[in-house]
Amino acid sequence: AHQLAVSRKWSKFDHTYAQCEPNYCQLFINNEFVDSVSGKTFATFNPATSKEIVQVSEGDKADIDLAVKAAKKAFHRDSEWRKLSPLQRTNLMNKLCALMDRDKAFLASLETQDNGKPYAEALFDVTYSILTLQYYAGWTDKFFGDTIPAGGFVSMTRKEPVGVVGQIIPWNYPLLMLAWKWGPALAVGCTIIMKPAEQTPLTALHMAALAKEAGFPAGVINVVNGFGPTAGAAISAHPDIAKVAFTGSVEIGRIVMQAAATSNLKRVSLELGGKSPVVVFDDADIDFAVETTHEALFSNHGQSCCAGSRTYVHEKIYDEFVAKAAAKAKARKVGNPFEQNVQQGPQIDDDMLTKVLGYIESGKKEGAKLQAGGKRIGNVGFFVEPTVFSDVKDDMRIAQEEIFGPVQSIFKFSSLEEMIDRANNVQYGLAAGVITNDINKALKFANNVDAGSVWINCYDAVLPSTPFGGYKHSGIGRELGKDGLDNYLETKTITMKLL
Ligand code: NAD
Repeated sequence: AHQLAVSRKWSKFDHTYAQCEPNYCQLFINNEFVDSVSGKTFATFNPATSKEIVQVSEGDKADIDLAVKAAKKAFHRDSEWRKLSPLQRTNLMNKLCALMDRDKAFLASLETQDNGKPYAEALFDVTYSILTLQYYAGWTDKFFGDTIPAGGFVSMTRKEPVGVVGQIIPWNYPLLMLAWKWGPALAVGCTIIMKPAEQTPLTALHMAALAKEAGFPAGVINVVNGFGPTAGAAISAHPDIAKVAFTGSVEIGRIVMQAAATSNLKRVSLELGGKSPVVVFDDADIDFAVETTHEALFSNHGQSCCAGSRTYVHEKIYDEFVAKAAAKAKARKVGNPFEQNVQQGPQIDDDMLTKVLGYIESGKKEGAKLQAGGKRIGNVGFFVEPTVFSDVKDDMRIAQEEIFGPVQSIFKFSSLEEMIDRANNVQYGLAAGVITNDINKALKFANNVDAGSVWINCYDAVLPSTPFGGYKHSGIGRELGKDGLDNYLETKTITMKLL
């Protein structure tokens, strides 16, 4: 992400925002903020303090039904939305981006309170979300079909929006995942029911208000907060939702796909977990490699689907690398995410804290060497010490399963061929990194690793224009770039006989 050339440095932080109150806590359906049909609410918590921020409305099947009704109406062939020209859609999307830019500090503050990521990181996510929406705003008039001559016929293909789409997103990048999903859906003219994660609904609700202010017609964008088994399940099983886009765990990805299959065979795209290898060859600059692999794992507290969670280091430089990686982890500043220069805030909730500490225990039991960290910090909030294990073996649980926390596992290797096999010896295939000055090694590894994204001498360089998604259990389909549009398009073939 450093390659985006957007400064992550602390800039003009107004401390009043650290205490900002969310403005919107209801459901957003048909351009109105409304209570849920059941009248129920649930609390969203600040993971740095474990305290409730606010109660938000809890949607379930009845609210999803209302949102789908509004989205269907907004997608009708005679609706205001369907009659907009591509340029008018571009303008609406750019207006939304301008409003996000106006509210940048507020959005970042909401995100930090709700998710726990450092304020500077949250600000970066807002910028990246704006860039993503701007990128897709440019696509509204650039997707089209072919003309196919064949004997006495002429055929043409049209690319049409798939219809009402459901979008279910996780808590690790609440705003960014929203932008990744709204961007292509709006660019091609779909209408949206979004369910944010129950841990982090606040920025999505503010975005709903901005969408209304930007002038999106009623029903184009709907945001329904709620829990997975109720609101989420109602989306994946709804007969009038044409497509569901999901980001989250493999376990729930399977459930979403099953519900899609048994309801109306809705189109499914899944962006799931990862166990991504980053391979450091012995010709690499060690300090650069230590820094790159450290950020690959520890950024966003290890809560990234593409986290570089398996660091493979060549045997010739292994001991020096491990010592430097441990020192780097020990120096990482953990604490109040609103405090300047803090690099790591809390994990998202008690469940994730317990899960991460459980993996640390399993690493110790299975014989990995603890080089740094290993413990919870304090008993308020969900903070974990940046943790490094060396001497990790491929069959350990910490080597195979997604930890989703600040735990770096360092392995030793000796040859490229061995490395390719070991890199591919997990169920996931989301991303991979390789650090070397030998272009032959880098490209041979890149060509043979099972991964949707491979970064050479960098990591997390995800641009709005570059497709992102997984091989194997890491998912189905690609988001971002031109490929990201395909998730939201149908191809229609119109054939004419020449008389
Ligand atoms: P999850 O898969 O349970 O939740 C993701 C989203 O799916 C949330 O909005 C949730 O409400 C919704 N959901 C849950 N049950 C559902 C159902 N039955 N039908 C439809 N939607 C449903 O993820 P989590 O509990 O937040 O995290 C668990 C693990 O998932 C993490 O430890 C991590 O390994 C992985 N994860 C991956 C990503 C990613 O970016 N790929 C993000 C978050 C979590």
